[in-house]
Order: sequence, then structure tokens, then C-alpha cells
Amino acid sequence: RLYNQVQDLKGTIRVYCRVRPFLSKQQHQLSSVDHIEEGNIRIITPSKYGKEGHRSFSFNKVFGPFATQEEVFLDMQPLVRSVLDGFNVCIFAYGQTGSGKTFTMTGPTELTEQSRGVNYRALGDLFQLSEQRKDTFAYDVSVQMIEIYNEQVRDLLSNDGLNKRYPSQKGLNVPDANVVPVASTSDVIELMNVGHKNRVVSATALNDRSSRSHSCVTVHVHGRDLTSGTTHHGSMHLVDLAGSERVDKSEVTGDRLKEAQHINKSLAALGDVISSLAQKNSHVPYRNSKLTQLLQDSLGGQAKTLMFVHISPEFDAIGETISTLKFAERVA
Ligand code: ADP
Ligand code: MG
Repeated sequence: RLYNQVQDLKGTIRVYCRVRPFLSKQQHQLSSVDHIEEGNIRIITPSKYGKEGHRSFSFNKVFGPFATQEEVFLDMQPLVRSVLDGFNVCIFAYGQTGSGKTFTMTGPTELTEQSRGVNYRALGDLFQLSEQRKDTFAYDVSVQMIEIYNEQVRDLLSNDGLNKRYPSQKGLNVPDANVVPVASTSDVIELMNVGHKNRVVSATALNDRSSRSHSCVTVHVHGRDLTSGTTHHGSMHLVDLAGSERVDKSEVTGDRLKEAQHINKSLAALGDVISSLAQKNSHVPYRNSKLTQLLQDSLGGQAKTLMFVHISPEFDAIGETISTLKFAERVA
């Protein structure tokens, strides 16, 4: 590879963890997070989770509540940049609803340049780097946005109901979803807005469908070496997963139960795929969920995967925090 900036990425699967800060109205609550240092996080465990009272987990990187969006992106930059060299990259945001997945990937509701998340920064960085290489490489960048809800795929950039019409092209990994060429950060912002508007989000926070579907922004990069004429393709999937909280089966019925079962099944399938890749198993169970089927070509082989788990700091969330950290430990 000509521009291999990813020497620091040992292996192809990395696991990061980010702890959300307390939100302003909950400043004085007790935290379950006791200590954070480099790649380690120690949490306080209530007695039913073991008599020690503490438990430590190790990952490639742990970001505390004061980490900025910029700091977080800087640690992901080599991974993102490898897409221009023809690598396939998957970045997953995992965690219970409210733990900060969307904050990391997209940003808060009121977006500023500083608060923009990984999706915007990654694309901005690809544009910047391709500009720097313009004397040697020509790059085309295009984007797809889809949502997976109840194991059904929906194109978030479909022409239905939009003023703007996009040329209908077949996607490479996501069949039939529109592929839209982008050339600047403002193109990307416009497109993300279209995608977000297209996501059906119902009024109440508890009934927010966006937390019960997986959303995926796929970036395709076609590169051409201007000297030799050879071409290559790299892709990046930026996935904001459905909330990982376990739903109490005794309390939900009907549609909510069905949703919960689909989410549990697909998150478990994702965990199974990544852990069997991490263990270099010969059989990787891609077929068990829509998400892993769609991403099959981008998970495994030379592809690079980042599982970015998110936790809420509140002591009340300890049960979900432990299950999230165990999920992360299993795929590491
Ligand atoms: P999720 O997508 O996992 O359900 P959100 O990203 O929507 O969670 O975060 C829940 C709330 O916490 C939002 O109001 C969000 O802006 C805020 N939040 C999350 N992470 C951070 C952070 N690192 N810094 C400041 N606010 C955050
Ligand atoms: Mg979210």
C-alpha cells in the first residue's frame, strides 16, 4: 500500500470505550466509574455482581467524560485515513440508549463545528487528505445512508418525499440504496440532514424509534493512481447501533417485544461475528442478522473494525454498564 499510515493498528479489531459526562441536571449523582487510565476503566460493582466491589476492564482506549469530540476523532484518524488506501473499515457505536452513541457519531442536537461527531469529521478528513494527494491520486467519494429496523433495511436517501432527486445507483454493499457523490463538508451536512429527516422519530423520548434501529452511513472511496492508472476501492461503515438495553419481557408485549427481540438478536449476532473474527475462527456466522449480512464484505479479511462502546456514568445504570463492558471484553 502506498500510504500505509496504519502501522499502529495491530490486528484488525480494536475496542474503544467512552464514558458520557453527567448531564447538567444530574450533576450530583453517584458514578459507577471509579477510575480511568489509558486503556483501563474500573467500575464499582454492587455486591450481587461479585464480592470484590470493583472490576477493571482493558481496551485499546478509554475516553473519560471530559474527552472532546476532537480528541476522540484524533484516535480514529489513522483508521479513517486507511479508507483512501483501499481498506474497508467498520466503526460501530454500541451502548444503552442515552449513553452517547449518537453524540459520538453525529453530535448533539445543536451542532457546532466543535461538537460535530465522527461522521462529519471522518468525511471532512477524507476530503482534506485527498486534496493533499491530488497530484498523485484522483478520488471519488460517495455516501449511502440506511436504517435497519426489525431486520428490514430502509434507504434514508431514497427519493420519496424529498425535494432533491438523487441519481439512482446501485450500492456495493447495500443493495438498491442510493449512492450520492459528495465533494465537500457542506455536501455531507446537507445529506446528513436529509437522512435524519427521513428517520422516523416519534415524539416521546421513550418511544424514540431511532434508538431501536441501527443506522449506517456508508462511505465509498474510489481512488485512481494518476501515474499508473490503477484503481482501488475502500469503504467505511459508520454504524450507530440500536440501544443495547435489555427489555424486560414481562413488561412489554406486541410491537415493542418484537423490536426488542430483533435488537437482541442482531446485537448478539454482531458480537458473535466480531468475536469469531478476533479468535480467527474458520466459521464466521454472518448469516444470523441483516446487519452482519450487509457488512459481510467489510468485516474480516483485511477489513478493520472498531467497536466503540459507550457507557452512562450513573450508578443506577450499573447493570447495563457491566453488560456493555462484558460485550466489549468478549470482542476485544
Ligand atoms: P444515545 O445515542 O446512545 O441514545 P445520545 O448521544 O443521544 O445517546 O446522548 C444522550 C444525551 O447525552 C444527549 O443529550 C447528548 O447530547 C448527551 N451526551 C452524550 N454524550 C455526551 C458527551 N460526551 N458530552 C456531552 N453530552 C453528551
Ligand atoms: Mg442515539
